Amino acid sequence: MAEYDSGIEITEEMLAIRNTVHRFANDVMHPVGVTLDKMHDPADVIAEGSPLWEALDKYKELGLVGQQEAYGPDLSPAQRALMHCMVLEETCRGDVGLSITLSLYNMAPQVARNFGNEEAALFFDERNEICCLALTEPNHGSDHVAFNEPTFFDEKIKPDCRVSRDGDDFIINGQKSSWVSAGTLAGAIILFATFEEGGQGLANGAVFVLPADLPGISKGKPLDKMGQRSLNQGEIFFDDVKVSHKFLMMEGVGVYPIVWEMFLKDANLAMAQQFVGVARAAYDMALEYARARVQGGVPIIQHQNVKLRLFSMYTKVELARSHVRRLSVNNVVNENGISYQQAASAKVFVTQSAFEVASDAIQTFGAYGLCKEYPIEKVFRDARASTIEDGENSMLAIMAASRL
Ligand SMILES: Cc1cc2nc3c(=O)[nH]c(=O)nc-3n(C[C@H](O)[C@H](O)[C@H](O)COP(=O)(O)OP(=O)(O)OC[C@H]3O[C@@H](n4cnc5c(N)ncnc54)[C@H](O)[C@@H]3O)c2cc1C
Repeated sequence: MAEYDSGIEITEEMLAIRNTVHRFANDVMHPVGVTLDKMHDPADVIAEGSPLWEALDKYKELGLVGQQEAYGPDLSPAQRALMHCMVLEETCRGDVGLSITLSLYNMAPQVARNFGNEEAALFFDERNEICCLALTEPNHGSDHVAFNEPTFFDEKIKPDCRVSRDGDDFIINGQKSSWVSAGTLAGAIILFATFEEGGQGLANGAVFVLPADLPGISKGKPLDKMGQRSLNQGEIFFDDVKVSHKFLMMEGVGVYPIVWEMFLKDANLAMAQQFVGVARAAYDMALEYARARVQGGVPIIQHQNVKLRLFSMYTKVELARSHVRRLSVNNVVNENGISYQQAASAKVFVTQSAFEVASDAIQTFGAYGLCKEYPIEKVFRDARASTIEDGENSMLAIMAASRL
């Protein structure tokens, strides 16, 4: 009997991939994620010999990194989109920081190809490396995200990372903030930078995909943060960095805000796909604990308040999953994909749900939920970061609301 989700058939091959990734998440990602989370110094997470590298290599051996084509040539676009949601739910249930790191593998050639820049794509194909997306600056977080707010076009707002012309090429100076994911690791950078001259504020920008080893580029120390500690984070500095025009993807006020909207739409949908897995991790842990923990002479799952809480958590996971899967499929089967406000609704709803489900899971564990012995407190910290990551949720909501 065939299995379906959102009206799309889940084939035997898809189930086999899901099951393989499920086992990998349990056997490798979860234990390695817990080990990396406990490292006191975030520099140790990316040091030579860290279990991070072995986990990433093992995942690469599964052949599922970076390209949805790896899910199988016979899948329809809708099945491929659904499969991607299923895979990310599993990897992020294992460890979201590791899963995000994996999703940054080989992003540079894909992005260059999407811009039709085959020369840059071939250059990065050969390097086969982790990529980062550098937008946020020390003095400009939401300023840079808010592509449809008037402040985006305000020339009084001065960027920390500036680009100027040098004949056909470009010179970059300044810095990106310590919040760039994989910032101190990445071999390639998708860089959003603002032109020094020409006015119109942050909207007057350019997108580059460039190698991180160009002369004049340096990296900061890995950031010490509360959650998602297996995900490296760090500053990138630019000191008179000469960038060939071949690494330019696009530029100019006319297109830059539109291109950033497209990036943010994809990033928001990806965040939603990922944090369904975090919500499920929290729910699974709470359910297992509630069946095992005895108080008042019975497993606590038999108490009405615990049952009700678990059902509320279950409902949030189900709603988050179905919203994300529907939008992910629509994004590939509809000619115009989905709208920005749909992607934002998924990011805001799913990350808020993951945070609430993780908080309810801690309540279900009682005091044990607060100690390091159980990984639920880690899942809570991982989920907490997500309501700020890739756009703070209320900022995204304001931007989406202005489109209603
Ligand atoms: C885990 C994690 C991973 C990240 N990864 C990356 C990455 O890979 N690349 C990257 O470039 N960045 C990354 N970021 C940065 C992230 O995009 C920013 O943190 C986010 O955009 C918010 O910016 P900020 O932290 O500077 O907060 P601020 O912009 O200073 O906002 C602070 C508060 O003020 C509110 N606020 C600010 N401006 C407005 C406004 N105009 N109207 C209404 N309210 C406003 C916000 O909603 C928020 O509550 C990451 C962040 C996290 C937590």
